[in-house]
Amino acid sequence: MSKEVWGYHEHPKRREPDWEVHSQTSAVRDGLARSGFGETSEALYLNSGFTYTDAQEAADAFTDQTDHFLYSRFHNPTVAMFEKRLAAIEGAEHCVATASGMAAMFASLACILETGDHVVASAAMFSSCHVVITEILPKWGVTYELVKANDKAGWEKALSKKVKAVFIESPSNPLLEIVDIRFVSDLAHKVGATVIVDNAMASPVLQKPLALGADVVMYSATKHIDGQGRVLAGALLGSFSYIYEKLIPFVRHTGPTISSFNAWVLVKSLETMDLRVTRMTESAQTIAEFLEGHAKIKSVRYPGLPSHPDHKIAMQQMSGGGTTIGIEFGGSQKDAFAFMDALTIIDISNNLGDSKSLITHPASTTHRRLSTDVQAEMGISPSVLRLSVGLEHVDDLIKDLNQALSN
Ligand SMILES: *Cc1c(COP(=O)(O)O)cnc(C)c1O
Repeated sequence: MSKEVWGYHEHPKRREPDWEVHSQTSAVRDGLARSGFGETSEALYLNSGFTYTDAQEAADAFTDQTDHFLYSRFHNPTVAMFEKRLAAIEGAEHCVATASGMAAMFASLACILETGDHVVASAAMFSSCHVVITEILPKWGVTYELVKANDKAGWEKALSKKVKAVFIESPSNPLLEIVDIRFVSDLAHKVGATVIVDNAMASPVLQKPLALGADVVMYSATKHIDGQGRVLAGALLGSFSYIYEKLIPFVRHTGPTISSFNAWVLVKSLETMDLRVTRMTESAQTIAEFLEGHAKIKSVRYPGLPSHPDHKIAMQQMSGGGTTIGIEFGGSQKDAFAFMDALTIIDISNNLGDSKSLITHPASTTHRRLSTDVQAEMGISPSVLRLSVGLEHVDDLIKDLNQALSN
């Protein structure tokens, strides 16, 4: 039985650049680990286990004396390539990828919380994050308080006592509320809290929460990181001590592991993420300006518009207004539905950050599970729509919106 494979030899390491490269170069190059075949593109290691040359090598690997992979629930070469690349783009020490954004969100808190701990979060949140903080964690004796995104006095008050974790979503889904990340992080650190930022709406292209003082960045990689509607995934990024001492001991044993196939899709998505998000943001800015001037639209909520109540902070902490627009339609839910139904290019879908432009009615879909009171607090009325701007030509998108509005 031959164990030889044609052409296989150890892949020689080439010299690395001795200067600090741009984020876009990291997005194409960082984390790439070539096998002995010298493949150009990142390889997909779709395997659950690993073998050892002898029993001692296995024993050494399990006592951490080597960097041999052990089992794909713990680690996998393709997953490691995605994690290293995303960490390089984010400017984080380490990254752990997960099976979904919600697996990342839950693990980010569960790995540090104990019964009796207190969590403070921004009030406008993705609905599943709201459920974790207000329904699931309280079952284990974790208390919480929610603060409106731009209520500075509210943050000061909530962060004047002992708090274990602060969870921020900025911009928020769907109405793009903005939290001043540096202001809240400084307050949180005075009381010893760990600050976690859900950065799904901005993506690493537009906002770097660690540089603004946060401790941990959380992603739904399903959104802009894949950005092409193919895979569910999540990621957490932070310091060595958070990732290795808190998070990894939790996720190794609870198993929210990403499939290496999905990580392989994502490692390639990172190469084009900057191009995609930059173009989508340019188009979203143009569309937000068009909608704001339209007679049938009551109001437009977009961080890149001066009419946004926190436009100034948004533009300080983000390099663009983002890909998503909150629209308050002038008229009833029925009129809003008729407008959605009249669109010909823009799809009706509750996803966002996709190359295809998508529109949704949050009150009846993504945020339906929240009570009407909570919806009202978040500003989600029956005439609110969320438009995620994709990669189609902006002129076609404006034509589509215009014809649907003149119906
Ligand atoms: C989609 C989303 C999530 C959840 O991510 P999944 O990948 O769907 O589990 C969390 N937060 C925000 C802001 C999101 O948009």
